Amino acid sequence: MDFPSRFDVIVVGGGHAGTEAALAAARTGAKTLLLSHNIETLGQMSCNPAIGGIGKSHLVKEIDALDGAMALATDQGGIQFRTLNSRKGPAVRATRAQADRILYKAAIRQQLENQENLWLFQQSCEDLIVEEGAARGMVTQTGIRFLSKTVVLTAGTFLGGIIHVGLQNHSGGRAGDPPSIGLAEKLRALPFRVDRLKTGTPPRIDARSVDFSVMQAQPGDDVTPVMSYMGNSAMHPRQINCFITHTNEQTHDIIRSGMDRSPMYTGVIEGVGPRYCPSIEDKIVRFADKNSHQIFIEPEGLTTHELYPNGISTSLPFDVQLELVRSMKGLENAHITRPGYAIEYDYFNPQDLKYSLETKHMPGLFFAGQINGTTGYEEAGAQGLLAGLNAALQSQDKDAWTPRRDEAYLGVLVDDLITMGTKEPYRMFTSRAEYRLVLREDNADMRLTEKGRELGVVSDERWAAFCEKRESIERETQRMKSSWIVPNTPESEAINPKLETPISREYNLLDLLKRPGIEYSDVANLKNAPEEKIDIRVAEQVQISVKYEGYISRQADDIERLRRQENTALPEDLDYSGIDGLSNEVKQKLIDAKPQTLAAASRIQGITPAAISLLLVHLKKRS
Ligand code: FAD
Repeated sequence: MDFPSRFDVIVVGGGHAGTEAALAAARTGAKTLLLSHNIETLGQMSCNPAIGGIGKSHLVKEIDALDGAMALATDQGGIQFRTLNSRKGPAVRATRAQADRILYKAAIRQQLENQENLWLFQQSCEDLIVEEGAARGMVTQTGIRFLSKTVVLTAGTFLGGIIHVGLQNHSGGRAGDPPSIGLAEKLRALPFRVDRLKTGTPPRIDARSVDFSVMQAQPGDDVTPVMSYMGNSAMHPRQINCFITHTNEQTHDIIRSGMDRSPMYTGVIEGVGPRYCPSIEDKIVRFADKNSHQIFIEPEGLTTHELYPNGISTSLPFDVQLELVRSMKGLENAHITRPGYAIEYDYFNPQDLKYSLETKHMPGLFFAGQINGTTGYEEAGAQGLLAGLNAALQSQDKDAWTPRRDEAYLGVLVDDLITMGTKEPYRMFTSRAEYRLVLREDNADMRLTEKGRELGVVSDERWAAFCEKRESIERETQRMKSSWIVPNTPESEAINPKLETPISREYNLLDLLKRPGIEYSDVANLKNAPEEKIDIRVAEQVQISVKYEGYISRQADDIERLRRQENTALPEDLDYSGIDGLSNEVKQKLIDAKPQTLAAASRIQGITPAAISLLLVHLKKRS
């Protein structure tokens, strides 16, 4: 049967990509359906209950700046917060939170259930409805047909999922959930390039069987960081410690002795795993000279005894898992509650996507999340938001939004995927962004909230808070600029001991803040103290923009130069094979990637500046 109402956007899959996609589409006013296997697993963390970390928190803050759900849910569910790289520059600082997986999921569910224009439906999606070559809806396992103008597919690790524990394997989307077989087959029949990837998870452990007294405790930061621009530490539930233990020679011997039953090392698993989140057996092989690895023992929540031993993801047989866990200090009597496993799944070559995340082969069909070859909740959430927003915009006959590399990590993520594709699960790092200093986690709202408001995804409440913050930064900057400290006065005497050289002329507070070693709090109240209470996040913006002014403006010049190139579009029908002077290899790379702009072409691995010049000449001849 056809479901009585017709939707603007249908999102398939209620993981991290799907929930952000559905919320973003609905926030624009589009009539949206979120169709997922199970309403109870909406927003479920398949692996480690932690959000953020280096490069990843930048994505979370960008999702937040566009009014997405992930950061606020983290503030509502986070049980240990830390700032990573706190002694390094602001570009690489990152927020990481251990989450209570139940609280996190509940916070996401609450946002979904209270979102206007959003309908939830529990059922497996088995097929796409295609009309005149375009995606126009979905069919569920019981034959219900949902019609729509656009479809966003976010099926995660479920498409053709196979779970491996030792040499035994079975079909599954993740432990305890069914795979998506019918839909995977239907999609394989379409002209998308499909391949296999794999990822894995460690066994979970019962805290009551662990001796924490011999492990190193790892508390959260004293001043608890906050994930959302709309969040505060009062939202955080009770904070608890993580712990650290180590693998040892015995652990490594146990792992080596089980390699003949490892699905990875006996060729049973064909998919490529995440290089930056390797399994413990991978680590033992790749870093054979290391005789110990640090293992973080992380609580899964406040109301469960389950622990997540971060660092021993494995698909070795269960008996080997048990032995290796029990070889570590504090875990001698550990009880495993769930075995670790690896999962292989289908993913689509992201080079078959447009920058809007719409597929090139089928109008109206958008892909987001793990199915595009990425790994991680944050990468999935960010893509989901973009795909959901663009599907909604398309349904409203509006142009897509495609953030650039100099605007957002989201722009870096999509551009990397589209220009280079990926042969292994892709995760975000700050090193992937060439304009790190402008793409900081502290300024994602300054970069994106106004754009989000224009696009219709930012609520009145967030917009008001953002405007107030922006004005407060401006007021405080002006106040400091016009507050002067004169030599040989009580104010100068107060600051001189902190300066390398005492002040010998008049300085305003902003100039003093530029001096090395001087913090906002050292100078803010020296003269004309502010009338309003300055929020810590406002002070941070004032300080960073002053201290890094020179570097930031240099990056702005680079960005402007690139932007001029960025604007040169490459027509979709460009016949690369007929361009004189390009090597066959370069031609093939361009044919595979079909870059949309000259700048995108220049970022494809192996595309040289000489090849770009030839392309420019060819384009001029064409026009
Ligand atoms: P998912 O979170 O997988 O969500 C997919 C959703 O789609 C589910 O709700 C599912 O029920 C639904 N669905 C699928 N098919 C259908 C259908 N046909 N009909 C209806 N609903 C459907 N990330 C890391 O960063 N580090 C790690 O170490 C790590 N390890 C992992 C280990 C395992 C075993 C797994 C499974 C994942 C791991 N991940 C890891 C990846 C992380 O879980 C994913 O990157 C993230 O969850 C992807 O989000 P997603 O929204 O794309 O997909």
